[in-house]
Amino acid sequence: MKTSLAIPVEATTSSRLPKTDFSNLVFGKTISDHMFVADYKNGEWTDLRIEPYAPLVLSPANATLHYGQSIFEGLKAYKNDKGEVLVFRADANWSRMNESAERMCMPAIPEDIFMEGMIQLLELDKGWVPDAKGSSLYIRPFMFATDDYIGVKPSDTYKFIIFTCPVGNYYSKPVSVKVETQFTRATEGGTGAAKTAGNYAASLYPAQKAQKSGYDQLLWTDGKSHSKIEESGTMNVMFKINGTLITAPINSGTILKGITRNSVLQLAKDWGQPVEERFLTVSELETALKDGTLEEAFGTGTAATIAHIERINVNGTDYILPTKSSDAFSNKVLAELDGIKYGTIADPHDWIIKI
Ligand code: PMP
Repeated sequence: MKTSLAIPVEATTSSRLPKTDFSNLVFGKTISDHMFVADYKNGEWTDLRIEPYAPLVLSPANATLHYGQSIFEGLKAYKNDKGEVLVFRADANWSRMNESAERMCMPAIPEDIFMEGMIQLLELDKGWVPDAKGSSLYIRPFMFATDDYIGVKPSDTYKFIIFTCPVGNYYSKPVSVKVETQFTRATEGGTGAAKTAGNYAASLYPAQKAQKSGYDQLLWTDGKSHSKIEESGTMNVMFKINGTLITAPINSGTILKGITRNSVLQLAKDWGQPVEERFLTVSELETALKDGTLEEAFGTGTAATIAHIERINVNGTDYILPTKSSDAFSNKVLAELDGIKYGTIADPHDWIIKI
């Protein structure tokens, strides 16, 4: 893809690529050679550069460390069978990042800085995109406050960085989840719709409790009554009940506007699959589990694409879901999205940028 920003590159003199074991990738642990960096000061983004991935030097008074003005994105690049690199829906990540920035009182990132910084980084680190089926290069753009000042106020300076990690399949097995009725991920008026660090920090304790009792993830419920299902772990969640696909709406301010969610809903509409964007209540879920009308339940997110749910705990009772046949909606949509991402089928919605 053609780019026009002149971004200076300092290439590494000791690539870690030859020493990397691509057959043994643990999500988020292996990091590619370079990163894109831009600094925000005096009201503008400056000093765009690509340099070797390296630790940052921060003052102990760095505002992010104290008050958490920090946002991020997550997207993936895939290799097709001609060895070309394909990036999925990066424009959607760019616009969501700016929605997060607005909510967190941070500056917007111009589209050319986000897109060209990413593209030029990927051109340099192309060799880090894994070849194996199901694997990809995870791209992590993030922005954080850099003022050395411990008063509570929006920072005047920020850093925007993009680095990448080669990753294998995120969830290879179906997951078990527990309906959470004590803790809350997001409340109306809060920051749930922003991809900001504090949301993830707040979710760790309840998620760890669930893991200790044998569940992979929580099914988050609303903060007021804990009666409506919102998301699952760090994924949006969908249920197919009596032939209709149901997922939480995104206008409450409590749901992250998942790009996988949006892609699944688009394909469902293309295929004439009935969809309802509304909150499913915990009692509706319980009834559907008891009477066998719950056909499918799955999480949607960049890391896993589709994470099938095989067991759900509602109010202390475990329910096992039926095994998915290959013509189940979740399997069909997973195959379609994989086909688009790896370039083996047509891309009807222009979701792919070829590097
Ligand atoms: N909800 C939360 C809380 C998330 O962190 C994510 C991952 N970004 C998602 C949903 C899924 O979003 P996406 O499909 O854009 O990855």
